[in-house]
Amino acid sequence: MSRMTFSERVLAKCVECGDCLIWKGAWASEGTTPAIYFDGRSANVRSALWQQMGKKVPHGHTIKAKCGEPACVAPAHLVANNYRAIPKTPTAKAITTRSMRARSKLTEDIVAQIRASDDRLIDWAQRLDVSISTISAIRLHKKWVPTNSMFSALIKPQGQGVHA
Ligand SMILES: [Zn+2]
Repeated sequence: MSRMTFSERVLAKCVECGDCLIWKGAWASEGTTPAIYFDGRSANVRSALWQQMGKKVPHGHTIKAKCGEPACVAPAHLVANNYRAIPKTPTAKAITTRSMRARSKLTEDIVAQIRASDDRLIDWAQRLDVSISTISAIRLHKKWVPTNSMFSALIKPQGQGVHA
């Protein structure tokens, strides 16, 4: 089997339409990202082509087609876009909201209270509207690593000497 280059693989999955190259291959990220399997992994077609042109994808940016054709991957039509400028789909919004809410419910204070209290797991689960397994994991210190955990290795537990 002859080895095709990345560009050849991409071209083989496109149809030309005027100046545009319309992607006919697979889509990832809820159908927003043309994706191709190459070199043992799935790649974002636009980002990979962008990088093949010797350009960098700036942090917080995604590569889009400036022609407005959602399926276009023509290298000449690609631009780096700040992804915050692109409206989220309702599904993506719901997922973000849900995860933000879950985070806000379990603050470090609440986690400390859960660990210190004698209340049953189910009482805490109902109080916070989270699953019993979440509360159980918190009690067992499996979940909820404090944000300052990077430093916890430097802090000696109370009641122990300072010597190592
Ligand atoms: Zn185009």
